[in-house]
Amino acid sequence: MADVKIEKVFKRYGSVQIMHGVGVDIEDGEFVVLVGPSGCGKSTLLRMIAGLEEISEGTISIGGRIVNDVLPKERDIAMVFQSYALYPHKTVFDNIGFPLKMAKRSQAEIKEKVHKAAEILDLTKLLDRYPKQLSGGQRQRVAMGRAIVRDPQVFLFDEPLSNLDAKLRVTMRVEIKELHQRLKTTIVYVTHDQIEAMTMADKIVVMRDGRVEQIGAPLDLYDNPQNVFVAGFIGSPAMNFVQGTIKGSGTKKQFVSDGGLTLPVPATAAADGQAVTYGVRPEHISVGAEGILLRVVVTEPTGAETQIFAKAGKDMMDAIVKERISAAPGE
Ligand code: ADP
Repeated sequence: MADVKIEKVFKRYGSVQIMHGVGVDIEDGEFVVLVGPSGCGKSTLLRMIAGLEEISEGTISIGGRIVNDVLPKERDIAMVFQSYALYPHKTVFDNIGFPLKMAKRSQAEIKEKVHKAAEILDLTKLLDRYPKQLSGGQRQRVAMGRAIVRDPQVFLFDEPLSNLDAKLRVTMRVEIKELHQRLKTTIVYVTHDQIEAMTMADKIVVMRDGRVEQIGAPLDLYDNPQNVFVAGFIGSPAMNFVQGTIKGSGTKKQFVSDGGLTLPVPATAAADGQAVTYGVRPEHISVGAEGILLRVVVTEPTGAETQIFAKAGKDMMDAIVKERISAAPGE
């Protein structure tokens, strides 16, 4: 196990700079998720930790050792990719044991380590099968087994679940988290899916355009986003944003949207006359007799809750309520 330090890292492809001074501290045993929209540089950063991509400027250290010039195979890391890249003509046993065979380990050691990994991943009964005889989830577990047998200091995951269907993704999410709780190995995990980030991470790194926007524990980012980008990116359904102006001061302070909607603000909100973006999470809206008037556009029952899209003038709000509400458009 080891910590990973990323310090002032830049990445350039020719004259194009795609990473602009990224810094992240990953503690020993921590599960860190790099999340952000497609093209923000998550994979590039992961590949730089793995040694598959050159670092243009800055340093990356693993376990206190600067690895900028260390070959990938000497970094003591194991990477699990989105495409599991299993060998189709090798059995599950041989697929999992392949890294050990390449490292010229003894047959006895290979057997012991493969069986141990198979036990952890519930693959023991499948060791004689070939990849094509496995389900998507089982194949993903074999790919993880191949990483586990190497007993690395750090696991790197590059969107490992994006080829799986929605239900299996949830199951595998739990399995990977459980695996981390058991092995306690440092994990750096890349995804564009903020729900994956929220549910799995000890610490989330939100990236955009080659920069770090915010780093924090999942609920810390949810409750205290530092900017509109993080507020809008973390949370599903997404936070509502309304543009407008602060009016009045002290206890009379209010927010008035450009569309004329008046909403309450804390006394600490911006000063009178200042233009602001007002953000409200869908679950913080409730339905009642008092408050502001919104007109229903559509309601969507999901069973456990109702999602309501409603409008006040031009301002659209998305609400999630526990009650089962059916309302006609315009109500
Ligand atoms: P993400 O994983 O967040 O989707 P990437 O790390 O794959 O993003 O890419 C970050 C940016 O770097 C993108 O704008 C992408 O187009 C660019 N990029 C990636 N690889 C190369 C390359 N070999 N040459 C030039 N630009 C690249």
